[in-house]
Amino acid sequence: MINKCIRVVGFFLFIGGLTGLLLLPCCSKTGVSSNIFNQWMQPSDKIKILSTVAMIDDIVRQIGKEKILHMSLISGQIDPHSYEMVKGDDEKLRMATVVFYNGLGLEHGASLSNHLLNHKNAIALGDAVAHKVPEEMIYIDRTIDPHIWMDISLWSLIIDPIVQELSRLDPESAEFYKNNGKNLLEAMQRMDKKIYYAMREIPSPQRYLVTSHDAFNYFTRAYLANPDEEYWQSRVNAPEGLSPDGQLSSSDIQYIVNFLLEKHIQTVFPESSVNRDALNKIIHDCQKKGLKVHMAKSPLYSDSMGGKNSGADNYLDMMWHNTNAILSEWKKN
Ligand SMILES: [Zn+2]
Repeated sequence: MINKCIRVVGFFLFIGGLTGLLLLPCCSKTGVSSNIFNQWMQPSDKIKILSTVAMIDDIVRQIGKEKILHMSLISGQIDPHSYEMVKGDDEKLRMATVVFYNGLGLEHGASLSNHLLNHKNAIALGDAVAHKVPEEMIYIDRTIDPHIWMDISLWSLIIDPIVQELSRLDPESAEFYKNNGKNLLEAMQRMDKKIYYAMREIPSPQRYLVTSHDAFNYFTRAYLANPDEEYWQSRVNAPEGLSPDGQLSSSDIQYIVNFLLEKHIQTVFPESSVNRDALNKIIHDCQKKGLKVHMAKSPLYSDSMGGKNSGADNYLDMMWHNTNAILSEWKKN
């Protein structure tokens, strides 16, 4: 698993916007059902697990199942990097028995990061992963890349800390959480292999990926690169950095245009939670230089999962959706 040789595959990216509604009754700005919110605010015998992002909440859901109440603070197609708290968030945090967050600089909005630092029981799962396998962490310009969920084998390392914390809070159900964690780990290992082999349908010289922001480094290293490939990072690029909230310059755009020209890449992939303006500008500039580049039909899910009926509304389906989106675009070219 983690001691894997660096695996590879390559290619480009994509798309557009499914608005992520979580559950049926009317939803708030962050996509949380008012029913769930009301339940959350009531006294309960169950432990209440709040996760900052849906990719964590889905893992918590599969470990805790009916024995817990769980909720994601940031749902729908909202950028978690710069997320600032909205009305009701402080109550959700206050009522939580434990808060799981990614850390590694992901949730850096001032109001949220301040609440996480001061919460009575907030656990940074990404930090736990980085502590366990520091050699697996990717750094971009000396900044740690927080998008570790993009490599399933890395993301599976958050199972143990979640099982441990749920078992500490609810010792009578420890065996239940342990078994669920074991089953989930096996499912994640199967999907990890499935994606790796699916990406091998694309010949190595064509396995490049261009997306909206720098969220696919772990995905590229795990699934697009070849084993032990030293320069796997040359297979992935994006106009926006690790957080899609910077100001783009014309040289940022030109850099990606040159990359597309050099690698003969014809597709760029929008991400569901990121504005498409930069990719549209890149496509326009490529056309002026005679290179036909198009926006992929289906968006990739990077920092958020899809909504109900999107085919990407749980973590493993999200990863498989991205794989299929990349594959189907390659088959068109
Ligand atoms: Zn991101």
